[in-house]
Amino acid sequence: MNALELHSICKSYGAHRALENISLVVPTGSRTVIVGPSGSGKTTLLRMIAGFEFPDRGCVTLNGQTLVDDTHEVPAHQRQIGYVPQDGALFPHMTVAANIGFGLTSKGRRKHERIAVLMDSVALDANMANRWPHELSGGQQQRVALARALAQQPRLMLLDEPFSALDTGLRASMRKLVARLLADAGVTTILVTHDQSEALSFADQLAVMRDGQLVQSGHPLDLYRYPGDEQTALFLGDAVVMPARIEAGWAHCDLGRIPVNNHRNNRCAQIMLRPEQLQLVGIVPNAVESSGCRGVVSERDFSGNTCTLIVELEALPDTDQPGRSLMVRSTGLYAPPAGSAVHVSALGHAHVLNEP
Ligand code: ADP
Ligand code: MG
Repeated sequence: MNALELHSICKSYGAHRALENISLVVPTGSRTVIVGPSGSGKTTLLRMIAGFEFPDRGCVTLNGQTLVDDTHEVPAHQRQIGYVPQDGALFPHMTVAANIGFGLTSKGRRKHERIAVLMDSVALDANMANRWPHELSGGQQQRVALARALAQQPRLMLLDEPFSALDTGLRASMRKLVARLLADAGVTTILVTHDQSEALSFADQLAVMRDGQLVQSGHPLDLYRYPGDEQTALFLGDAVVMPARIEAGWAHCDLGRIPVNNHRNNRCAQIMLRPEQLQLVGIVPNAVESSGCRGVVSERDFSGNTCTLIVELEALPDTDQPGRSLMVRSTGLYAPPAGSAVHVSALGHAHVLNEP
C-alpha cells in the first residue's frame, strides 16, 4: 500500500519554477530519499507535503486522504506529519524535555514517562532532560528534534538534510541509528539530502531531483547501475563514460567488447561503467589478453581503503587520436604505482545511457 502520493505538483515563485510536475509514490513503511543539488527544490517539496506551502497545481494524498487538490487544503497541524527542518529548529528557551514534550497532550507523570521513553528511543541519556539546546552537540540536537517529531506519532516523517551539520563519523552512526529507530517505529519516512552516498545508503527508494524536476526514481542500486543519463550518473558517483557502437548485446569501445545490459542494436551511444568495475593487472610478457586494453597509470590518489587511479589507454591502431584517460578504483593496498604498464578490463555489464 502507498502512504503518500504526489500527482503533478507544480510551484513557481514569480518567474522561477521551483517544482515542475512532480509525481511520486511513497510505499507505506518505506524510507524514500530525495536527492538533488542545492536549489533543486527539495525543501520546497517537503514543505508542500508538510502543509507549510501550497502547490499552484497538483494533488497530495496520504493514506488515501486528500491533503491538497484544486478545491481542498488540509492545514499543516491537521496532517499528522512529522517535520524536522534542516537546522532542527529547537526552541532555544526550552529544555530538552520541554522541547520533546511540546506537543504532548498528556500531563504530569504520564508526560514525564513518555518523554523518557522518547529520549531513550533516540539514544539520549536521561540526564540530558534539563539541558538547554545550546548545551548540546549537533548530533544531540538532531536527536531531540527527531524525538519531538516522533512524539506526535506521525503518519509520515519528513527529514530535511538531518545529518548535514554532523562530521563524517557521527553522520554514519546517526544515519544507522535513525534508520533503525524509524524502522522500529514503523514510520514511513522521506529524507532529503544533497549527499549522494548518504542517499544511497539510507534509501529503499531513491528519487533524483534536478532543477525542480524529478528525473528518476527507483531502488538505489538500480539508479547507481542504470542511471538514465550522464548527469544523473555523475551526480550519484564517479563514472567512466565513453562512446561505443552497440551490436547484439555488446558494446564495442576503447576497452574492446563489453556486454551491455540494455540492447539497442546497431547504433552509437554513450556507455557508462563505474570506476570500480574496471580491473587492472600488470602486463605479463606473452600473456593472452582476451579483452580489454593496455595502458599506463598516470596518477594515483591513495585514500586508505581505496585508491583512485588515472590510466592512459594506448591509442587504438589506425588512429592518430591519443588514447582515452580512464578513472579506475582499486583497493588502496595493492594499487599499481604511477608509471606501471597495466592491462584494463571491465567487470560485468556496461550501461547504455540515454541521449541528453
Ligand atoms: P533545495 O532544498 O533543494 O536546496 P529549495 O527548495 O530550498 O532547494 O529551493 C528551490 C528554489 O526555489 C531555489 O531557487 C530557491 O531560491 C527558490 N525558493 C524557495 N523558496 C522560495 C520562496 N519562498 N520565495 C522565492 N523563491 C524561493
Ligand atoms: Mg533545502
